[in-house]
Amino acid sequence: MTTQEINKIREDFPILSVKVYDKPLIYFDNAATTQKPKAVLDRINYGYEHLNANIHRGVHFLSQKATDAHEEARNFIANYINAESASEIIFTRGTTEAINLVAFSFGEFCCKEGDEIVISAIEHHSNIVPWQMLCERKKMKLRIIPMNEKGELRLNEYEKLLNEKTRLVSVTHVSNVLGTVVPVKEMIEAAHAKNIPVLIDGAQALPHMQVDVRDLNADFYVFSGHKIYGPTGIGVLYGKKEWLDKLPPYQGGGEMIQNVSFEKTTYNELPFKFEAGTPDYIGSTALAEALKYVENIGIDKIAAYEDELTAYATKRLLEIDGMRIIGTSEHKSSVISFLVGDIHPYDIGMLLDKLGIAVRTGHHCAQPLMDELGIPGTVRATFSFYNTKEEIDTFVEALKRVVGMLS
Ligand code: PMP
Repeated sequence: MTTQEINKIREDFPILSVKVYDKPLIYFDNAATTQKPKAVLDRINYGYEHLNANIHRGVHFLSQKATDAHEEARNFIANYINAESASEIIFTRGTTEAINLVAFSFGEFCCKEGDEIVISAIEHHSNIVPWQMLCERKKMKLRIIPMNEKGELRLNEYEKLLNEKTRLVSVTHVSNVLGTVVPVKEMIEAAHAKNIPVLIDGAQALPHMQVDVRDLNADFYVFSGHKIYGPTGIGVLYGKKEWLDKLPPYQGGGEMIQNVSFEKTTYNELPFKFEAGTPDYIGSTALAEALKYVENIGIDKIAAYEDELTAYATKRLLEIDGMRIIGTSEHKSSVISFLVGDIHPYDIGMLLDKLGIAVRTGHHCAQPLMDELGIPGTVRATFSFYNTKEEIDTFVEALKRVVGMLS
């Protein structure tokens, strides 16, 4: 992308002109959440100003308009990830809720004592804890795909874990700590060869690459709106219709019913069966707006530019004595986790903050991965297409100062 294009993009994000301690904000915490373009903010306002009425149940004008907007958003999202039909798109509060939904509904329907769920060593807590809870409930076992020293999954070990007791594989598409891009298509193929379904945690993938759920042949694919320039509190569970049809509802109440009596309740058809209570119909439309924004720029263009930023930042960070980059996978997304000498990550993060630079420090909700690496945490800088090489230069110079102070 040209400097001109990036400057124009930056103007779309009002928060990028905020000052932090009287310094220009440098926002390198994009893996935690992304900033929102004006188009998304405007869509939220527009929704409340012009289209606010509870959806699905209303006969009146506004309710029908709001329902149409919500269902158009669902259609748009289905097309965006190439789902076969909009009824395969379930709105959730985010990735975490989507995984919990599958862990509960799939667990109820398909799992019994002695069965196994396969996850990997590089998962976020959101893709560990729901499966642990299922394993506790049903007396099942969690099996872990190990990684190599670069932070890549060991695929030969993975294949050995798949057996007749394996009920489901649940792995991340991109690691939020190491940036590792996991070869999920290959892994799905290996699991399907043994009739095992696969859930992919796409929270860190969708913002950085084209995702085609049918090409991947994923059984379930989940992501969060707030990590792809959309609002917080909305996310998506994509599930193949044949799975979603079979699974029982996750929560009860609201539009998920067909008929209720005190004797028996029958459930609504897809996707409503999984959407109890008033849906976030403003969030869904704003999420579709965010995806339109990304689509207008072009995800391939975004990915190429973010790769350029990551390579540039890696090269510049390695100028610093004692720099240790954690996660050196061949295929890596725009995440750089690092440690410098024996300085505590928290101290680095605190001082960078005072210089206007937002990075994340700690275990990044991946404590088992930190244990495996034998470290308490890292400093993590994560880039988006609105970041610049000049910001990286400022960050590296600031980091040199901070390291000098703390050494
Ligand atoms: N999985 C991964 C890989 C993540 O990075 C995150 C967010 N850090 C989550 C799951 C959880 O996402 P959310 O908090 O939006 O549910």
